[in-house]
Order: sequence, then C-alpha cells, then structure tokens
Amino acid sequence: RSKAEGPGRSTLFDVSMHNRVRERIELEAALRTALARGELRVAYQPIVNLETGQPLGAEALVRWEHPERGNISPATFIPIAEDAGLIGSIGTWVRNQAMSQLARWRADGTVADDFYLSVNVSPRQLTDANLPLIVSAELLRYGVPAGALALEMTESVMVDGSSVTSQVLFELRELGLRLLVDDFGTGFSALGYLRRFPVTGVKIDRSFVSGLGESVEDEEIVRAVVAMSRALGLSIVAEGVETPTQRDALAAVGVRQGQGWLWGRAMAPDEFVASVRAVASAINRDQLAAGNS
Ligand code: C2E
Ligand code: MG
Ligand code: MG
Ligand code: MG
Repeated sequence: RSKAEGPGRSTLFDVSMHNRVRERIELEAALRTALARGELRVAYQPIVNLETGQPLGAEALVRWEHPERGNISPATFIPIAEDAGLIGSIGTWVRNQAMSQLARWRADGTVADDFYLSVNVSPRQLTDANLPLIVSAELLRYGVPAGALALEMTESVMVDGSSVTSQVLFELRELGLRLLVDDFGTGFSALGYLRRFPVTGVKIDRSFVSGLGESVEDEEIVRAVVAMSRALGLSIVAEGVETPTQRDALAAVGVRQGQGWLWGRAMAPDEFVASVRAVASAINRDQLAAGNS
C-alpha cells in the first residue's frame, strides 16, 4: 500500500471488506432457507400495448421479504443464488408460481387467451439438459399453452453458452415457448447469435429508453433495433418506460409493446387483477366517449 493512504485508511478498507464478506455469507445462509420459510413472492409487472395501455402480458419478478431487513432486491440476491447453487430451485419455484397464477387468470377471465407470462432464467438454469422435459410436464400439469410462456435471458447466455445450452434453447422453442433477449443492447457482442439461436423477441434495455425525447443517439439506436428486429421477425418490448414522452417516441419508431412505471410497477397478484380491471374500464369509457362524440 502507498504511504499516502496510511495505516488508518488500510484498516478502514479491511474493515469494510470484512463487513461485506460477512454480509454476503449471512445473506447466503438466509437465502438457503428463504424458500422453505415462505419469504419469496412473485410480483407481476404489466407488458402493455403501448398506444392503448391494454395488458398483453406480464413479467414475473421474484421478491424477497427478509424477516429483519425487509425487501431485498433481486439484483442483490439473484447473483448470490447463482453462486450458491440455489438458482435452480428458486427458478423452478418462480416458474411454477407464474404458471399456476397464469392458469387461474386464464380460467377466471382476468386475462385473454393470447396473454403471456414472461419468466427470467439465469444462464445456469439453461445448462440443465432436462429443462425442456421438465417445462413440458409443467405446461401439461397447469394446462397452460406453451405460447403463453416466455423465457427471458440475457445475450451472454447465447454468446458464452455451451452446446448443451444451445440444445436446451432449441428444444424449448420446439415446445412453442417464446424466447426473449433481456436487456437487449447492453452486451457488446456481435448480433449473429440472433440468427443462430431460436430467439423470438428482444426487450430493449431501459438505458436506451430513458434518453428518448432528449438524446438523438438513443433515438437512432432504438430505430436501428426496430429495423433489425423487423427484418428478423422478432417481437420488441421496450423496458423501463417512465414518461409519456418516452412512450410517444417509441410509438413513433414503431415499437408496439412497453413495460414500465408509466403503466405500473411489479405488483402482487390481487393488485395486478385490480389494475387490469381499471385499464379495461378506462378503455371502455374512452370508446364510449369516442362513440358518443
Ligand atoms: P430485468 O429482468 O431486466 O427486470 C426489469 C427490472 O426493471 C425490474 O427490476 C423492474 O422492476 C425494473 N423496472 C421495470 N419498469 C421500470 C421503470 O419504468 N423504471 C425503472 N427504473 N425500473 C423499472 P427488479 O424487479 O428489481 O429485477 C431486477 C433484475 O433481477 C431483473 O432485471 C432480472 O434480471 C432479475 N430477476 C428478477 N426476478 C428474477 C427471477 O425470477 N429469476 C432470475 N434469474 N432473475 C430475476
Ligand atoms: Mg427480465
Ligand atoms: Mg429486462
Ligand atoms: Mg433491463
């Protein structure tokens, strides 16, 4: 260590480092029992028709209510779950929660037949050669059509994935699942994988959406993503839409599906149902008003 830092500084550094390691070990231990203790939940964020606000689908996002620390972000605990070998069981649990929820919403008419639920998968989950068989059994068990289930993965899955991962993706696609590239545009890879893998759509990362209406560069990037996705026959969802300005800029370049706080955050199931009903009656009201004018 340099003299300028001094002994005091390096001690501070060691202490904070020590605290971080201890915190990490504690979180990992708590996460091991979180599922069994019922501390995990699945929240649902609407994916909507950008022009009407009508829900076309939803993303299932896992939540952890730690007994002492309260809510811990998946951005914090998913990487821990991946390192600790817990992502398989957590991922399976989230997927099953989502599918059984979807089956109920389809049965009680909360959602239309073509409504889809989108579930995040970690790279590690896609190295399990049995995954397609397991998912196909789950589809049968819940009575959910494959096309109503989407899996979201980051592009690293396809760029760094093994031949097993590739096989798993082709089999999942063969079943009829939608396969979406999450956080699209944040990787720095060549785009060839979009043709080599059976991807059905992309989710444009929030970092490109946030600058819309202010940054000409971001607008050009989104425009290019739309053109390319169209040429490849891919669906497009814009993530992290927070303002009407962003929505309008997206609509102007031909993006049809949006997700973001402008329409709703990730919600508990009953809240989600209430929001679907509220949107439906608002759309009805607008149509009536338009009809009467
Ligand atoms: P993601 O898949 O890209 O999910 C979108 C994240 O952006 C979510 O954060 C969502 O709450 C947030 N978001 C949505 N709309 C807006 C908006 O308008 N503005 C802003 N600022 N943020 C918005 P969340 O729920 O904290 O999830 C973080 C990440 O954790 C997810 O990113 C996903 O990579 C991962 N994750 C969540 N649930 C699961 C899961 O069940 N399995 C796996 N493997 N990963 C998960
Ligand atoms: Mg996602
Ligand atoms: Mg995303
Ligand atoms: Mg993202």
